[in-house]
Amino acid sequence: MPQAVVIGAGVAGIAVSVRLALKGWQVIVLEANDYPGGKLSEFKHDGFRFDAGPSLFTMPMLVDELFRLAGRDPRAYFNYAKLSLACRYFYTDGTVLDAHADPQQFAAEVEAKLGVPAQVVADHLQAAARKYALTKGIFMERSLHKASTYFRRDVLKALVHLPKLHLGRSMHAQNVKKLKHPKLVQLFDRYATYNGSNPYAAPGILNLIAHLEHGIGACFPKGGMIAITQSLVGLAEELGVEFRYGQRVKRILVDAGGASGVELAGKTIAADLVISNMDIVPTYRRLLAEQPAPEKVLQHERSSSALIFYWGIERTFPQLDLHNIFFSDDYAAEFEGIFGTLGLHADPTIYVHVSAKYEPTDAPEGMENWFVMINVPGNHGQDWNALIEVSRARILAKLSRLLGTDIAALIRCEDVLDPRSIEARTSSYQGSLYGASSNRQMSAFFRHANFSSRLKNLYFCGGSVHPGGGIPLCLLSARIVSELVPAAL
Ligand code: FAD
Repeated sequence: MPQAVVIGAGVAGIAVSVRLALKGWQVIVLEANDYPGGKLSEFKHDGFRFDAGPSLFTMPMLVDELFRLAGRDPRAYFNYAKLSLACRYFYTDGTVLDAHADPQQFAAEVEAKLGVPAQVVADHLQAAARKYALTKGIFMERSLHKASTYFRRDVLKALVHLPKLHLGRSMHAQNVKKLKHPKLVQLFDRYATYNGSNPYAAPGILNLIAHLEHGIGACFPKGGMIAITQSLVGLAEELGVEFRYGQRVKRILVDAGGASGVELAGKTIAADLVISNMDIVPTYRRLLAEQPAPEKVLQHERSSSALIFYWGIERTFPQLDLHNIFFSDDYAAEFEGIFGTLGLHADPTIYVHVSAKYEPTDAPEGMENWFVMINVPGNHGQDWNALIEVSRARILAKLSRLLGTDIAALIRCEDVLDPRSIEARTSSYQGSLYGASSNRQMSAFFRHANFSSRLKNLYFCGGSVHPGGGIPLCLLSARIVSELVPAAL
Protein backbone atom coordinates (compact mmCIF):
# COMPACT_ATOMS: atom_id res chain seq x y z
CA MET A 1 0.00 0.00 0.00
CA PRO A 2 1.50 3.44 -0.87
CA GLN A 3 2.62 5.36 2.17
CA ALA A 4 1.89 8.94 3.19
CA VAL A 5 3.77 10.75 5.93
CA VAL A 6 2.11 13.67 7.71
CA ILE A 7 4.46 16.04 9.58
CA GLY A 8 2.60 17.28 12.66
CA ALA A 9 -0.52 16.21 14.53
CA GLY A 10 -2.22 19.60 14.61
CA VAL A 11 -5.94 19.53 13.88
CA ALA A 12 -5.29 19.80 10.13
CA GLY A 13 -2.67 17.03 10.24
CA ILE A 14 -5.09 14.73 12.06
CA ALA A 15 -7.92 15.58 9.66
CA VAL A 16 -5.78 14.98 6.58
CA SER A 17 -4.66 11.63 8.01
CA VAL A 18 -8.31 10.57 8.28
CA ARG A 19 -9.04 11.64 4.73
CA LEU A 20 -5.97 9.96 3.25
CA ALA A 21 -6.62 6.72 5.12
CA LEU A 22 -10.11 6.76 3.57
CA LYS A 23 -8.49 7.20 0.15
CA GLY A 24 -6.50 4.02 0.65
CA TRP A 25 -3.19 5.46 1.86
CA GLN A 26 -1.14 3.92 4.64
CA VAL A 27 -0.64 6.98 6.85
CA ILE A 28 2.01 7.72 9.49
CA VAL A 29 1.72 10.97 11.47
CA LEU A 30 5.02 12.17 12.96
CA GLU A 31 4.55 14.58 15.85
CA ALA A 32 7.38 16.40 17.65
CA ASN A 33 5.45 16.70 20.93
CA ASP A 34 4.48 13.74 23.06
CA TYR A 35 0.80 14.60 22.61
CA PRO A 36 -1.46 15.34 19.61
CA GLY A 37 -3.38 18.52 18.77
CA GLY A 38 -0.64 21.17 18.56
CA LYS A 39 -2.40 24.37 19.61
CA LEU A 40 -5.58 22.37 20.25
CA SER A 41 -4.35 20.64 23.40
CA GLU A 42 -5.04 20.69 27.14
CA PHE A 43 -3.29 20.51 30.49
CA LYS A 44 -4.26 20.03 34.12
CA HIS A 45 -3.07 21.87 37.21
CA ASP A 46 -4.13 21.49 40.86
CA GLY A 47 -7.50 19.95 40.03
CA PHE A 48 -8.25 22.44 37.22
CA ARG A 49 -8.40 21.45 33.52
CA PHE A 50 -7.52 24.03 30.87
CA ASP A 51 -7.83 23.95 27.10
CA ALA A 52 -4.45 25.39 26.14
CA GLY A 53 -5.37 27.16 22.89
CA PRO A 54 -8.65 27.54 21.01
CA SER A 55 -11.77 28.10 23.07
CA LEU A 56 -14.33 29.10 20.45
CA PHE A 57 -15.72 26.31 18.29
CA THR A 58 -17.58 27.25 15.11
CA MET A 59 -18.66 25.25 12.04
CA PRO A 60 -18.99 21.92 13.90
CA MET A 61 -20.28 20.33 10.71
CA LEU A 62 -16.68 20.18 9.49
CA VAL A 63 -15.78 17.82 12.34
CA ASP A 64 -18.94 15.79 11.84
CA GLU A 65 -18.12 15.49 8.15
CA LEU A 66 -14.99 13.45 8.93
CA PHE A 67 -16.96 10.86 10.90
CA ARG A 68 -19.67 10.69 8.24
CA LEU A 69 -17.08 10.22 5.49
CA ALA A 70 -15.81 7.23 7.45
CA GLY A 71 -19.35 5.85 7.69
CA ARG A 72 -19.58 6.59 11.43
CA ASP A 73 -22.24 8.38 13.43
CA PRO A 74 -20.43 11.51 14.70
CA ARG A 75 -22.58 11.54 17.84
CA ALA A 76 -21.13 8.21 18.90
CA TYR A 77 -17.69 9.90 19.05
CA PHE A 78 -18.12 13.62 19.56
CA ASN A 79 -20.83 15.83 21.02
CA TYR A 80 -21.31 19.53 21.42
CA ALA A 81 -23.85 22.02 22.72
CA LYS A 82 -24.94 24.99 20.64
CA LEU A 83 -24.41 28.20 22.63
CA SER A 84 -27.41 30.43 23.19
CA LEU A 85 -25.12 33.26 24.31
CA ALA A 86 -22.22 33.82 21.92
CA CYS A 87 -20.36 36.26 24.18
CA ARG A 88 -20.88 38.64 27.09
CA TYR A 89 -19.34 42.08 26.55
CA PHE A 90 -18.23 44.39 29.36
CA TYR A 91 -17.46 48.03 28.53
CA THR A 92 -15.38 50.28 30.81
CA ASP A 93 -18.38 52.51 31.62
CA GLY A 94 -20.21 49.54 33.19
CA THR A 95 -22.41 48.62 30.20
CA VAL A 96 -22.84 44.85 29.93
CA LEU A 97 -24.20 43.51 26.65
CA ASP A 98 -25.20 39.93 25.90
CA ALA A 99 -24.55 38.89 22.30
CA HIS A 100 -27.25 36.24 22.01
CA ALA A 101 -26.65 33.74 19.25
CA ASP A 102 -30.20 34.28 18.00
CA PRO A 103 -30.01 37.35 15.72
CA GLN A 104 -33.39 38.76 16.81
CA GLN A 105 -32.61 38.45 20.51
CA PHE A 106 -29.18 39.97 19.93
CA ALA A 107 -30.67 42.87 17.97
CA ALA A 108 -33.24 43.45 20.74
CA GLU A 109 -30.47 43.49 23.37
CA VAL A 110 -28.52 46.05 21.34
CA GLU A 111 -31.63 48.22 21.05
CA ALA A 112 -32.29 47.96 24.81
CA LYS A 113 -28.70 48.60 25.94
CA LEU A 114 -27.35 50.94 23.26
CA GLY A 115 -30.50 52.47 21.80
CA VAL A 116 -29.59 51.33 18.28
CA PRO A 117 -32.69 50.20 16.32
CA ALA A 118 -32.85 46.39 16.16
CA GLN A 119 -33.10 46.56 12.38
CA VAL A 120 -29.53 47.90 12.15
CA VAL A 121 -28.08 44.73 13.67
CA ALA A 122 -30.50 42.51 11.75
CA ASP A 123 -29.39 44.11 8.45
CA HIS A 124 -25.72 43.84 9.35
CA LEU A 125 -26.02 40.14 10.17
CA GLN A 126 -27.93 39.52 6.95
CA ALA A 127 -25.15 41.21 5.01
CA ALA A 128 -22.64 38.96 6.82
CA ALA A 129 -24.68 35.89 5.81
CA ARG A 130 -24.72 37.04 2.17
CA LYS A 131 -20.96 37.62 2.14
CA TYR A 132 -20.40 34.17 3.62
CA ALA A 133 -22.65 32.45 1.09
CA LEU A 134 -21.02 34.23 -1.84
CA THR A 135 -17.43 33.69 -0.87
CA LYS A 136 -17.08 30.38 0.94
CA GLY A 137 -16.84 28.49 -2.36
CA ILE A 138 -13.94 30.56 -3.57
CA PHE A 139 -11.98 31.69 -0.52
CA MET A 140 -12.54 28.76 1.83
CA GLU A 141 -13.38 25.51 0.13
CA ARG A 142 -11.08 25.26 -2.88
CA SER A 143 -7.52 25.82 -3.88
CA LEU A 144 -7.04 29.39 -5.12
CA HIS A 145 -3.98 28.15 -6.97
CA LYS A 146 -5.65 25.84 -9.50
CA ALA A 147 -7.05 27.30 -12.71
CA SER A 148 -10.00 24.87 -12.56
CA THR A 149 -11.31 26.74 -9.48
CA TYR A 150 -12.01 29.84 -11.56
CA PHE A 151 -14.20 28.05 -14.09
CA ARG A 152 -16.79 26.94 -11.57
CA ARG A 153 -20.23 28.53 -11.71
CA ASP A 154 -20.29 29.49 -7.98
CA VAL A 155 -16.81 30.99 -8.19
CA LEU A 156 -17.68 33.03 -11.28
CA LYS A 157 -20.78 34.28 -9.46
CA ALA A 158 -18.64 35.34 -6.47
CA LEU A 159 -16.19 37.11 -8.76
CA VAL A 160 -19.02 39.08 -10.37
CA HIS A 161 -20.11 40.22 -6.91
CA LEU A 162 -16.60 41.18 -5.76
CA PRO A 163 -17.39 44.93 -5.62
CA LYS A 164 -20.19 44.21 -3.10
CA LEU A 165 -17.79 42.34 -0.85
CA HIS A 166 -16.06 45.50 0.41
CA LEU A 167 -12.53 44.43 -0.40
CA GLY A 168 -11.53 48.07 -0.77
CA ARG A 169 -12.84 49.25 2.59
CA SER A 170 -11.64 48.13 6.02
CA MET A 171 -13.86 46.15 8.38
CA HIS A 172 -13.83 49.14 10.73
CA ALA A 173 -14.78 51.64 8.02
CA GLN A 174 -17.61 49.38 6.91
CA ASN A 175 -18.80 48.92 10.50
CA VAL A 176 -18.71 52.67 11.19
CA LYS A 177 -20.72 53.30 8.01
CA LYS A 178 -23.39 50.73 8.85
CA LEU A 179 -23.51 50.66 12.66
CA LYS A 180 -22.32 54.12 13.78
CA HIS A 181 -22.61 53.54 17.54
CA PRO A 182 -18.99 53.26 18.84
CA LYS A 183 -19.76 50.37 21.21
CA LEU A 184 -21.46 48.39 18.48
CA VAL A 185 -18.67 49.17 16.02
CA GLN A 186 -16.11 47.90 18.55
CA LEU A 187 -18.12 44.71 19.09
CA PHE A 188 -18.21 43.94 15.35
CA ASP A 189 -14.60 45.11 14.81
CA ARG A 190 -13.58 42.39 17.25
CA TYR A 191 -14.39 39.72 14.66
CA ALA A 192 -11.07 40.62 12.98
CA THR A 193 -9.33 38.97 15.92
CA TYR A 194 -11.00 35.64 15.01
CA ASN A 195 -8.24 35.24 12.46
CA GLY A 196 -5.68 37.41 14.20
CA SER A 197 -6.12 40.49 12.02
CA ASN A 198 -6.51 44.22 12.46
CA PRO A 199 -10.04 45.58 11.87
CA TYR A 200 -8.58 48.95 10.83
CA ALA A 201 -6.71 47.28 7.94
CA ALA A 202 -8.47 43.98 7.15
CA PRO A 203 -10.96 44.18 4.26
CA GLY A 204 -14.69 44.59 4.96
CA ILE A 205 -15.40 41.17 3.47
CA LEU A 206 -14.22 39.73 6.79
CA ASN A 207 -17.33 41.11 8.43
CA LEU A 208 -18.76 37.77 7.29
CA ILE A 209 -17.15 36.22 10.40
CA ALA A 210 -20.09 37.44 12.49
CA HIS A 211 -22.23 34.97 10.55
CA LEU A 212 -20.30 32.06 12.07
CA GLU A 213 -21.60 33.01 15.54
CA HIS A 214 -25.00 34.49 14.76
CA GLY A 215 -25.94 32.46 11.70
CA ILE A 216 -24.34 29.04 11.85
CA GLY A 217 -23.89 29.27 15.62
CA ALA A 218 -21.02 28.82 18.06
CA CYS A 219 -20.71 25.59 20.04
CA PHE A 220 -18.97 24.05 22.99
CA PRO A 221 -17.71 20.47 22.71
CA LYS A 222 -18.64 18.08 25.48
CA GLY A 223 -15.44 17.44 27.42
CA GLY A 224 -13.94 20.74 26.27
CA MET A 225 -12.11 21.74 23.09
CA ILE A 226 -9.70 18.85 23.58
CA ALA A 227 -12.56 16.53 22.62
CA ILE A 228 -12.07 17.65 19.00
CA THR A 229 -8.47 16.41 19.04
CA GLN A 230 -9.20 13.26 21.00
CA SER A 231 -12.19 12.14 18.95
CA LEU A 232 -10.42 12.75 15.62
CA VAL A 233 -7.27 10.92 16.73
CA GLY A 234 -9.52 8.04 17.84
CA LEU A 235 -11.20 7.99 14.43
CA ALA A 236 -7.86 8.12 12.59
CA GLU A 237 -6.48 5.25 14.66
CA GLU A 238 -9.58 3.17 13.93
CA LEU A 239 -8.86 3.73 10.25
CA GLY A 240 -5.32 2.43 10.66
CA VAL A 241 -3.41 5.73 10.92
CA GLU A 242 -0.24 5.36 13.00
CA PHE A 243 0.68 8.28 15.28
CA ARG A 244 4.33 8.45 16.38
CA TYR A 245 4.99 11.00 19.13
CA GLY A 246 8.26 12.64 20.14
CA GLN A 247 9.33 12.44 16.48
CA ARG A 248 10.63 15.77 15.15
CA VAL A 249 11.13 15.77 11.39
CA LYS A 250 14.42 17.45 10.46
CA ARG A 251 14.26 17.40 6.67
CA ILE A 252 11.96 16.53 3.80
CA LEU A 253 13.84 14.21 1.47
CA VAL A 254 13.78 15.14 -2.18
CA ASP A 255 14.81 13.14 -5.23
CA ALA A 256 14.30 13.66 -8.93
CA GLY A 257 10.68 12.67 -8.62
CA GLY A 258 9.87 15.15 -5.84
CA ALA A 259 9.37 14.55 -2.11
CA SER A 260 10.44 11.01 -1.29
CA GLY A 261 10.33 10.83 2.50
CA VAL A 262 11.51 12.50 5.69
CA GLU A 263 14.57 12.50 7.89
CA LEU A 264 14.37 12.34 11.68
CA ALA A 265 17.12 12.08 14.29
CA GLY A 266 19.14 9.08 13.18
CA LYS A 267 16.71 7.65 10.61
CA THR A 268 14.76 8.23 7.44
CA ILE A 269 11.26 7.16 6.43
CA ALA A 270 10.48 6.71 2.74
CA ALA A 271 7.10 7.99 1.56
CA ASP A 272 5.13 8.30 -1.67
CA LEU A 273 3.45 11.41 -0.33
CA VAL A 274 4.57 13.99 2.25
CA ILE A 275 2.12 16.43 3.83
CA SER A 276 3.49 19.14 6.09
CA ASN A 277 1.21 20.40 8.83
CA MET A 278 4.16 22.36 10.18
CA ASP A 279 3.97 26.15 9.77
CA ILE A 280 4.98 26.99 6.20
CA VAL A 281 7.86 29.32 7.20
CA PRO A 282 9.87 26.74 9.19
CA THR A 283 8.82 24.07 6.69
CA TYR A 284 10.85 25.95 4.06
CA ARG A 285 13.57 27.32 6.35
CA ARG A 286 14.31 24.06 8.20
CA LEU A 287 12.85 21.08 6.36
CA LEU A 288 13.49 22.31 2.81
CA ALA A 289 16.53 24.49 3.49
CA GLU A 290 18.22 23.47 0.24
CA GLN A 291 15.20 24.26 -1.93
CA PRO A 292 14.26 27.69 -3.34
CA ALA A 293 11.69 29.31 -1.06
CA PRO A 294 8.73 31.52 -2.09
CA GLU A 295 10.10 34.57 -0.29
CA LYS A 296 7.18 36.88 -1.00
CA VAL A 297 4.73 34.46 0.56
CA LEU A 298 6.96 33.72 3.54
CA GLN A 299 7.38 37.43 4.27
CA HIS A 300 3.63 38.07 4.42
CA GLU A 301 2.75 39.81 7.71
CA ARG A 302 1.78 37.30 10.40
CA SER A 303 -1.38 37.27 12.47
CA SER A 304 -1.37 38.44 16.08
CA SER A 305 -0.20 36.24 18.92
CA ALA A 306 -1.54 35.97 22.47
CA LEU A 307 -0.55 36.25 26.10
CA ILE A 308 -2.59 33.89 28.24
CA PHE A 309 -2.84 33.47 31.98
CA TYR A 310 -4.50 30.25 33.09
CA TRP A 311 -5.78 30.88 36.58
CA GLY A 312 -7.43 28.45 38.96
CA ILE A 313 -9.86 30.80 40.74
CA GLU A 314 -11.11 30.01 44.25
CA ARG A 315 -14.64 31.32 43.71
CA THR A 316 -17.41 31.30 41.15
CA PHE A 317 -18.57 34.39 39.27
CA PRO A 318 -22.24 34.21 38.24
CA GLN A 319 -21.79 37.46 36.28
CA LEU A 320 -19.46 35.65 33.86
CA ASP A 321 -20.52 33.35 31.04
CA LEU A 322 -18.48 30.92 28.91
CA HIS A 323 -16.97 33.70 26.72
CA ASN A 324 -16.48 37.17 28.18
CA ILE A 325 -14.83 40.25 26.74
CA PHE A 326 -13.71 43.29 28.73
CA PHE A 327 -13.15 45.95 26.10
CA SER A 328 -10.48 48.64 26.11
CA ASP A 329 -11.45 52.28 25.65
CA ASP A 330 -9.12 52.78 22.71
CA TYR A 331 -9.32 49.89 20.27
CA ALA A 332 -7.39 51.74 17.56
CA ALA A 333 -4.39 52.29 19.87
CA GLU A 334 -4.50 48.63 20.90
CA PHE A 335 -4.25 47.41 17.28
CA GLU A 336 -1.57 50.01 16.49
CA GLY A 337 0.46 48.35 19.25
CA ILE A 338 -0.17 44.81 17.98
CA PHE A 339 0.62 45.48 14.30
CA GLY A 340 2.47 48.82 14.29
CA THR A 341 4.77 49.48 17.22
CA LEU A 342 4.77 45.79 18.28
CA GLY A 343 4.15 46.85 21.87
CA LEU A 344 1.29 46.41 24.34
CA HIS A 345 -1.44 48.94 24.98
CA ALA A 346 -1.83 50.13 28.59
CA ASP A 347 -5.54 49.23 28.62
CA PRO A 348 -5.86 45.88 26.81
CA THR A 349 -9.09 44.20 25.78
CA ILE A 350 -9.29 41.09 27.96
CA TYR A 351 -10.93 37.81 27.02
CA VAL A 352 -11.98 35.54 29.90
CA HIS A 353 -13.07 32.01 29.00
CA VAL A 354 -14.48 29.75 31.72
CA SER A 355 -15.07 26.24 30.40
CA ALA A 356 -16.25 25.16 33.89
CA LYS A 357 -19.50 27.01 33.09
CA TYR A 358 -20.29 24.11 30.72
CA GLU A 359 -18.01 21.41 32.17
CA PRO A 360 -18.24 21.69 35.97
CA THR A 361 -15.55 19.02 36.43
CA ASP A 362 -13.00 21.38 34.83
CA ALA A 363 -12.63 23.05 38.26
CA PRO A 364 -12.97 21.88 41.86
CA GLU A 365 -16.39 22.54 43.39
CA GLY A 366 -17.05 26.23 44.05
CA MET A 367 -14.16 27.31 41.81
CA GLU A 368 -13.56 28.26 38.17
CA ASN A 369 -10.83 27.72 35.56
CA TRP A 370 -10.10 31.07 33.96
CA PHE A 371 -8.37 31.33 30.59
CA VAL A 372 -7.45 35.03 30.49
CA MET A 373 -6.08 36.21 27.16
CA ILE A 374 -5.00 39.44 25.54
CA ASN A 375 -4.01 39.83 21.89
CA VAL A 376 -0.35 40.75 21.51
CA PRO A 377 2.13 41.16 18.64
CA GLY A 378 4.12 38.21 17.40
CA ASN A 379 7.52 37.39 18.83
CA HIS A 380 10.03 39.86 17.40
CA GLY A 381 12.44 39.51 20.32
CA GLN A 382 10.60 41.83 22.71
CA ASP A 383 11.38 41.56 26.43
CA TRP A 384 8.48 39.20 27.12
CA ASN A 385 9.30 38.66 30.79
CA ALA A 386 8.89 42.38 31.43
CA LEU A 387 5.76 42.56 29.22
CA ILE A 388 4.18 39.63 31.06
CA GLU A 389 4.78 41.27 34.43
CA VAL A 390 3.30 44.60 33.42
CA SER A 391 0.36 42.97 31.59
CA ARG A 392 -0.47 40.76 34.56
CA ALA A 393 -0.72 43.83 36.80
CA ARG A 394 -2.86 45.69 34.25
CA ILE A 395 -5.21 42.75 33.72
CA LEU A 396 -5.65 42.14 37.44
CA ALA A 397 -6.34 45.82 38.09
CA LYS A 398 -8.93 46.01 35.31
CA LEU A 399 -10.75 42.77 36.13
CA SER A 400 -10.72 43.57 39.86
CA ARG A 401 -12.26 46.97 39.16
CA LEU A 402 -14.93 45.70 36.76
CA LEU A 403 -15.83 42.61 38.80
CA GLY A 404 -15.69 44.47 42.12
CA THR A 405 -13.31 42.09 43.90
CA ASP A 406 -9.56 41.52 44.31
CA ILE A 407 -8.86 38.83 41.70
CA ALA A 408 -5.19 38.35 42.64
CA ALA A 409 -6.24 37.09 46.06
CA LEU A 410 -8.36 34.37 44.42
CA ILE A 411 -5.67 32.82 42.21
CA ARG A 412 -4.89 29.33 43.50
CA CYS A 413 -2.66 28.25 40.58
CA GLU A 414 -1.22 29.92 37.51
CA ASP A 415 0.32 29.01 34.16
CA VAL A 416 1.34 31.37 31.37
CA LEU A 417 1.59 31.03 27.59
CA ASP A 418 3.24 33.76 25.50
CA PRO A 419 4.37 34.15 21.88
CA ARG A 420 7.73 32.52 22.66
CA SER A 421 6.18 29.40 24.16
CA ILE A 422 3.54 29.18 21.41
CA GLU A 423 6.40 29.23 18.89
CA ALA A 424 8.45 26.68 20.86
CA ARG A 425 5.56 24.25 21.34
CA THR A 426 4.08 24.31 17.85
CA SER A 427 6.81 25.76 15.56
CA SER A 428 4.38 28.54 14.70
CA TYR A 429 6.52 31.32 13.19
CA GLN A 430 6.64 34.32 15.58
CA GLY A 431 4.06 32.54 17.74
CA SER A 432 1.25 33.70 15.45
CA LEU A 433 -2.10 32.07 16.24
CA TYR A 434 -3.47 32.01 12.70
CA GLY A 435 -0.52 31.98 10.26
CA ALA A 436 -0.55 34.98 7.93
CA SER A 437 -2.69 37.98 8.82
CA SER A 438 -5.60 39.10 6.64
CA ASN A 439 -4.62 42.74 6.85
CA ARG A 440 -4.25 43.24 3.11
CA GLN A 441 -6.99 43.53 0.55
CA MET A 442 -5.86 40.44 -1.33
CA SER A 443 -4.41 38.51 1.62
CA ALA A 444 -6.27 35.36 0.64
CA PHE A 445 -4.23 35.19 -2.56
CA PHE A 446 -0.91 35.58 -0.73
CA ARG A 447 -1.20 32.48 1.44
CA HIS A 448 0.83 29.50 0.36
CA ALA A 449 -0.95 26.96 -1.80
CA ASN A 450 -1.88 23.53 -0.40
CA PHE A 451 0.66 21.92 -2.73
CA SER A 452 4.21 22.53 -3.84
CA SER A 453 4.45 23.86 -7.38
CA ARG A 454 8.09 22.67 -7.63
CA LEU A 455 8.11 19.31 -5.87
CA LYS A 456 5.77 16.50 -6.75
CA ASN A 457 4.15 14.55 -3.88
CA LEU A 458 4.49 17.46 -1.43
CA TYR A 459 1.40 19.09 0.11
CA PHE A 460 0.67 21.54 2.92
CA CYS A 461 -2.18 21.87 5.39
CA GLY A 462 -2.86 23.87 8.55
CA GLY A 463 -3.33 27.44 9.68
CA SER A 464 -0.35 28.96 7.86
CA VAL A 465 -1.47 27.96 4.35
CA HIS A 466 -4.65 28.38 2.32
CA PRO A 467 -7.41 29.00 3.40
CA GLY A 468 -5.96 30.24 6.75
CA GLY A 469 -6.02 29.80 10.50
CA GLY A 470 -8.67 28.78 13.00
CA ILE A 471 -10.06 25.27 13.43
CA PRO A 472 -12.66 25.44 10.62
CA LEU A 473 -10.21 26.69 8.01
CA CYS A 474 -7.58 24.17 9.12
CA LEU A 475 -10.16 21.42 8.61
CA LEU A 476 -10.92 22.85 5.17
CA SER A 477 -7.21 22.88 4.29
CA ALA A 478 -7.18 19.14 4.99
CA ARG A 479 -10.20 18.68 2.73
CA ILE A 480 -8.55 20.65 -0.10
CA VAL A 481 -5.34 18.61 0.20
CA SER A 482 -7.23 15.34 0.07
CA GLU A 483 -9.06 16.52 -3.05
CA LEU A 484 -5.73 17.29 -4.72
CA VAL A 485 -4.15 13.96 -3.78
CA PRO A 486 -4.94 10.93 -5.93
CA ALA A 487 -6.53 7.83 -4.43
CA ALA A 488 -3.88 5.27 -3.51
CA LEU A 489 -5.33 2.47 -5.58
P1 FAD B 1 -0.84 23.38 14.93
O1 FAD B 1 -1.81 23.39 16.03
O2 FAD B 1 -0.03 24.58 14.68
O3 FAD B 1 0.11 22.13 15.17
C1 FAD B 1 1.19 21.83 14.35
C2 FAD B 1 1.79 20.55 14.91
O4 FAD B 1 2.90 20.19 14.12
C3 FAD B 1 2.29 20.71 16.34
O5 FAD B 1 1.77 19.68 17.13
C4 FAD B 1 3.80 20.63 16.20
O6 FAD B 1 4.43 20.05 17.33
C5 FAD B 1 3.93 19.74 14.97
N1 FAD B 1 5.21 19.95 14.30
C6 FAD B 1 5.71 21.11 13.84
N2 FAD B 1 6.91 20.90 13.27
C7 FAD B 1 7.14 19.58 13.33
C8 FAD B 1 8.20 18.74 12.90
N3 FAD B 1 9.27 19.24 12.26
N4 FAD B 1 8.11 17.42 13.12
C9 FAD B 1 7.04 16.87 13.75
N5 FAD B 1 6.02 17.62 14.20
C10 FAD B 1 6.06 18.95 13.98
N6 FAD B 1 -8.95 28.80 16.53
C11 FAD B 1 -10.28 28.72 16.62
O7 FAD B 1 -10.92 28.18 15.69
N7 FAD B 1 -10.95 29.20 17.71
C12 FAD B 1 -10.30 29.79 18.75
O8 FAD B 1 -10.91 30.19 19.75
C13 FAD B 1 -8.90 29.91 18.68
N8 FAD B 1 -8.20 30.46 19.69
C14 FAD B 1 -6.85 30.28 19.74
C15 FAD B 1 -6.17 30.63 20.91
C16 FAD B 1 -4.82 30.35 21.03
C17 FAD B 1 -4.09 30.72 22.29
C18 FAD B 1 -4.12 29.74 19.96
C19 FAD B 1 -2.65 29.41 20.09
C20 FAD B 1 -4.78 29.46 18.78
C21 FAD B 1 -6.15 29.71 18.66
N9 FAD B 1 -6.87 29.38 17.51
C22 FAD B 1 -8.24 29.37 17.53
C23 FAD B 1 -6.19 28.96 16.27
C24 FAD B 1 -6.14 27.45 16.13
O9 FAD B 1 -5.71 26.88 17.33
C25 FAD B 1 -5.19 27.06 15.04
O10 FAD B 1 -5.50 27.75 13.83
C26 FAD B 1 -5.19 25.56 14.75
O11 FAD B 1 -5.33 24.80 15.92
C27 FAD B 1 -3.88 25.26 14.04
O12 FAD B 1 -3.86 23.92 13.67
P2 FAD B 1 -2.76 23.37 12.68
O13 FAD B 1 -3.32 22.14 12.07
O14 FAD B 1 -2.29 24.44 11.77
O15 FAD B 1 -1.53 22.90 13.59
